[in-house]
Amino acid sequence: VARRLEKFKTTIFTQMSSLAIKHGAINLGQGFPNFDGPEFVKEAAIQAIRDGNNQYARGCGIPELNSAVAERFKKDTAGLLVDAEKEVTITSGCTEAIAATMLGLINPGDEVILFAPFYDSYEATLSMAGASVKCVTLRPPEFSVPLDELRSIISKNTRAILMNTPHNPTGKMFTREELNVISTLCIANDVLVFSDEVYDKLAFEMDHISIASLPGMYERTVTLNSLGKTFSLTGWKIGWAIAPAHLTWGIRQAHSFLTFATSTPMQYAAATALRAPDSYFKELRRDYMVKKAILVEGLKSVGFIVYPSSGTYFVVVDHTPFGLENDVAFCEYLIKEVGVVAIPTSVFYLNPEEGKNLVRFTFCKDEETLRTAVKRMKEKL
Ligand code: GLN
Repeated sequence: VARRLEKFKTTIFTQMSSLAIKHGAINLGQGFPNFDGPEFVKEAAIQAIRDGNNQYARGCGIPELNSAVAERFKKDTAGLLVDAEKEVTITSGCTEAIAATMLGLINPGDEVILFAPFYDSYEATLSMAGASVKCVTLRPPEFSVPLDELRSIISKNTRAILMNTPHNPTGKMFTREELNVISTLCIANDVLVFSDEVYDKLAFEMDHISIASLPGMYERTVTLNSLGKTFSLTGWKIGWAIAPAHLTWGIRQAHSFLTFATSTPMQYAAATALRAPDSYFKELRRDYMVKKAILVEGLKSVGFIVYPSSGTYFVVVDHTPFGLENDVAFCEYLIKEVGVVAIPTSVFYLNPEEGKNLVRFTFCKDEETLRTAVKRMKEKL
């Protein structure tokens, strides 16, 4: 394996999902729903295939989807106008949008700041881009942004901050105050922001805010999002990057040589999905609030210290009441002895020690599965 990927192992999600299958355990690890996406979106995909939309799409996305993304963003940000033709790029999932952003906009040696715990692909794609990774840790119970630490870590070599709100794995949502400070710092130091907002429709305790909508930020922000979480279709791998034209150029260059174009029929279906009525998004949120309550109350009753999660379909707990030495040992025990899978969080830190008390559970499962998992933990932990 090339040096740039030497330090990375099989992703934790792949590892844990295969263990789940091997041990017949309930998988509350990898974040994928065990229920299907909506019929009207699936029908749109079938129709697009039947209509013969099966050859290469335009590289930056089919015009219908670029427009649907721009319209959705305008609604979600209360009026931000995006040029669908020049500022939207459709990619194969948000993971590709992240990679294309790093490879298209970061030079070797540029510093990029992450907030730990961070989603695993961030560090790996930054390594592929030759970036130097700096990190600020969000600490329990609130996982607030330590603004002074952030201020002191920015240097003249800092090219970008890569953030994620609502935040995987903690469920933290960046507050307006935090976003204001981050914006001020970025503008003062000429730093870009890459904002991964794939869980924006799963915001429960507060409203989601896109940092691109703050004064002076649009021109220095890449907003990354996807279809998977919002429409319970994680296997479709449709994502996008919204950025001003001068940044979109770099992203599109990387995208053209990574995947060239994204699945054509799925893009038609994605355009239909994004034009869903408001009631769809309300119902999604309502359903997830019920699931969240079942899992959170259940985990509390089992004896975990459960940290507040404002958004995403994840919740992070402290497992130390059960006496295992670290997150990896705890998750191993949980799979083998209890029959439930969670994700150890130490892989999401530059210094794994920082995550050793924390594990992540997902509640993107049907209610019965969540109840059964809680019951197993109550009986066997
Ligand atoms: N985003 C999903 C999660 O955090 C996993 C995606 C993947 O397996 N790469 O669980």
